[in-house]
Amino acid sequence: MSAYDDRLAAFVGRPLVALRPAADPVNVPMIRHWVEAMGDTNPRYLGASPVAPASMMQAWTMRGFGAPVVAGGFDELVALLAEGGYTSVVATDSDFEFVREVVPGDHVSVEEVVEAISPEKATGLGAGRFVTTLKTYCDAAGSVVATQRWRTLRFQPVASSPVEPVETPRPRPAVNLDNAFWFEAAREHRLVVQRCLACKTLRHPPGPACPECQSFDWDTVEASGRGTLYSFVVAHHPRHPAFDYPLLIAVVELDEGTRLITNLTGVTADALSIGMPLEVEWLDADPELTLPVFRPVATLEH
Ligand SMILES: [Zn+2]
Repeated sequence: MSAYDDRLAAFVGRPLVALRPAADPVNVPMIRHWVEAMGDTNPRYLGASPVAPASMMQAWTMRGFGAPVVAGGFDELVALLAEGGYTSVVATDSDFEFVREVVPGDHVSVEEVVEAISPEKATGLGAGRFVTTLKTYCDAAGSVVATQRWRTLRFQPVASSPVEPVETPRPRPAVNLDNAFWFEAAREHRLVVQRCLACKTLRHPPGPACPECQSFDWDTVEASGRGTLYSFVVAHHPRHPAFDYPLLIAVVELDEGTRLITNLTGVTADALSIGMPLEVEWLDADPELTLPVFRPVATLEH
C-alpha cells in the first residue's frame, strides 16, 4: 500500500456527513409534489393516514440546491480523490433497507459514514476507485428508519482521443412503409416534409395519418433547408464507432414549422446558441444512407 492508499484508507469508518436533521419534517405537501411528479397514484400516500413513499427517503434530508457547502469529511475526501486524479464521479448503485414507513410529522436525520474505498480498478470510464458509504436515516427519537448503502465510482477521466477511422457503418434508421419516402428523398439530397392533403397541416416525423384531422391522404412539400436551433445535447458517452465525438445532436425547427432531430456539423458546442440560424447539408454516410445534417448559416462579420 502506498502512502496515498493509507491516506484514503484513513477515511474508512469516518463520518462524511455529520448527523444532519432534515430542514422540514415529513409533510403532505412534499409527498403530494413527489407522487404527482412520479405519477404514482397509490392511495396509501395521500389517504386518511398518509405515509411517505419509501423512495422519498433521500429527499427529506437532501440539502437544497442553494445550500452553502459545509466544510467537513466529504469535501476532504473529494479533495484527496482529486489529488489522485479521480476527478470524475458516477453513481453506480444504491441499496436501501427500510425499517419502517415514515409518516407526516416524522423528523428524519441522516448520517453518512465511509464504509469502503476500493483499490484502483480499470473501468470503461477510466481508472477509478469505488467509494461505498452507509447513510443511516433516523427519526427524532434516534431510531433507525432506513439505511442506504451508496456506491460511487470516482475515476480519472480518459482524455478524449481522436476516433480512428473504422469501417463500422452508421446505425440504420428504422425505415418502414410510412417513412420510406423521406429517406428516399434524402438520397436525392431533397429535404421534404409530409403534408396532409385534407387540412394542409405539415407533420414530422412521417406517419400514416394526420394528427390534426386523421386523414390518411398526404403528399410532400420541399423544405427550404433553412431553420433554427431549437434545442441540442452534446453526447460524449457511450461511444459508437460510426460517430465522431463530442457528437452534437440537435432539434432543428425548420422555417416550414416542423422540427426534426439531426446532427450538427461545422460547429463546436461552445459556439451554439438556441435560435441560431442553420442550413441543411447532406451527409452521404455510405452507399445506402444519406441523411440531412445542419450547419450554422454563414453570417457576415460586423
Ligand atoms: Zn389533416
